[in-house]
Order: sequence, then C-alpha cells, then structure tokens
Amino acid sequence: MPYSYDEQNIFAKILRGEIPCNKVAESEHCLAFHDIAPQAPQHVLVIPKGAYVTYDDFALNARDAEIIDFTRMVAKVCGQLGVCPTEAQAGYRLISNAGPDGMQEVPHLHVHILAGANIGPLTVKHT
Ligand code: 5GP
Repeated sequence: MPYSYDEQNIFAKILRGEIPCNKVAESEHCLAFHDIAPQAPQHVLVIPKGAYVTYDDFALNARDAEIIDFTRMVAKVCGQLGVCPTEAQAGYRLISNAGPDGMQEVPHLHVHILAGANIGPLTVKHT
C-alpha cells in the first residue's frame, strides 16, 4: 500500500455528509463542489468518492469505472460552467496538487477547475 489515507481529511467528511459543501454535480463515483476559498471567478473541485490521496494513487489503483467517471465528470463540470473553449473567450485550468512539493493541503485526490478569467502563468519558475 503506497499511500496511507487519512479518513478524517476534510473531503472525506464532505463525502460522509459530516460537513456541507456547495455541490455542483455528483455521479456514482465522484462529487464536484465549489472551493471554499476561490482563487478564480469559477473554482470547482472534483473528487472521487473512493479513498485516493493523489492523482498517481488514483490512476494506478482505481478501477476503470472510477477513472472513466472521474475523467468525464471533469469535462461535464467544465461544460456546466460554460468554460469549454468552444467560444473564443472561454477556457480553464486543471490543477491537481500532490504531496509536500505540490503543496497539497487536503490529502484526498482533487482536481481544481479554475476559470472565468485569464488564469495567468502556469507557475513560478524554480530554476
Ligand atoms: P490543495 O492545496 O490540497 O490542492 O487544495 C485544497 C483546496 O480545498 C483549497 O483550495 C481549499 O480552499 C479547499 N478547501 C479546504 N477546506 C475546504 C472545505 O471545507 N470546503 C471546501 N469546499 N473547500 C475546502
């Protein structure tokens, strides 16, 4: 078992209904909700319902049905938000922080969808 999953992390509590969230969408294997401290005009988190810590954990250990559902949920939420770049002005950025170097705060896999404005440069340089 490469990762230990903390059942008390805040997203596990959201999934158990112990604390509320502002839900955007839900499917059999995942949940999407607004970030509590938005970093862009639109900032939604997509999480799997399964106990996965990071993207690599999920991609290697989740069942195909979970991976398909999660991948499609990200696309559905982008569509729901109206940010798929079929229009000249739209677009979004996906971010999934992992571990200390990625500055992951909540140890349950999540993809940030950031949109609604130009999101700016990808990251600061560390060269
Ligand atoms: P990370 O740094 O782990 O990639 O991002 C964690 C995100 O979770 C942050 O953007 C933070 O604002 C968000 N967050 C932390 N606690 C809560 C919460 O209780 N509810 C919601 N909706 N978002 C949260």
